[in-house]
Amino acid sequence: ERKHECPVDKDELGRSTWNLLHTMSVYYPEKPSEEQKNKAKSFMNLLGQLYPCDFCAKDLRKDLIESPPSVSSRENFAEWMCQLHNKVNKKTGKPEFDCKNVMERWRDGWKDGSCDY
Ligand code: FAD
Repeated sequence: ERKHECPVDKDELGRSTWNLLHTMSVYYPEKPSEEQKNKAKSFMNLLGQLYPCDFCAKDLRKDLIESPPSVSSRENFAEWMCQLHNKVNKKTGKPEFDCKNVMERWRDGWKDGSCDY
């Protein structure tokens, strides 16, 4: 067991960030105001400026230009976030996630009850 807590590495930072991003997307308003839409876009663009992994941030900025955040509704934002994560999965050789399951994974819990505790 480690004696002290330690700085996060790229993978731990990634997992923590996806926890935030997916959870944020599935609790995004179903009918966002113009202001909420602008804030969601700004959040992602600022993340591309500030994400503390240089090559990840560089690719994120490129991805955001190629595929700007879909912020018109919760469903669209959650789907867009899932697709963004899948682009990174592809690059890093991780399995693709089936985006039709994004609400179960990040909001409602799995239908088999495995998240009920
Ligand atoms: P993670 O990829 O962190 O996923 C965590 C959990 O999310 C999974 O267990 C699964 O339940 C769920 N999940 C997986 N895919 C999806 C999806 N598409 N939609 C919804 N849920 C999903 N790492 C690099 O090596 N190179 C990079 O260029 C890079 N860029 C990144 C850019 C961003 C914006 C972020 C947030 C992270 C980036 N990372 C990058 C880190 C990388 O994505 C992973 O977080 C890290 O490798 C740890 O992977 P993991 O296997 O623990 O699962």
